[in-house]
Amino acid sequence: TMGTVALDAAGNLSGMCTTSGMAFKMRGRIGDSPIIGAGLYVDNEVGAVTCSGQGEEVIRMCGSHLVIEFMRQGKSPEEACRLAIERIVKRDVNRAKEFQVGFIALSKAGEIGAYSVQPNFSYTVMADGINNVTTASKSYF
Ligand code: ASP
Repeated sequence: TMGTVALDAAGNLSGMCTTSGMAFKMRGRIGDSPIIGAGLYVDNEVGAVTCSGQGEEVIRMCGSHLVIEFMRQGKSPEEACRLAIERIVKRDVNRAKEFQVGFIALSKAGEIGAYSVQPNFSYTVMADGINNVTTASKSYF
């Protein structure tokens, strides 16, 4: 999945995501990316969130919406992403060793955060039209 979250000069949030799905997927499978609240959620009062990884795990938890709700409760974007990842892992910690899910989040105030199940989930921050830094998120494992 490729996902982007953005905050414009007027302070408005937006987001997008796109995916080819999983390799060898079953015919008719729909991943998380086309489902609002799963692969993407934007609330212009709170933040914008998108994610990549095993879509079924994200759909079950309404993952991107869950991150937004943690941010609405006052968590930072990274903290909110971490709490959503922990919720996903908690369902079955052994199975979670086998899959990746990573969230990126941007708050109304412009704070950025990310968190993933496995290491090496990276994202790039662009400000003023310049690719600034590519960072690997913190991860559960
Ligand atoms: N999230 C996508 C899906 O489950 C897979 C991906 O990250 O590319 O369809």
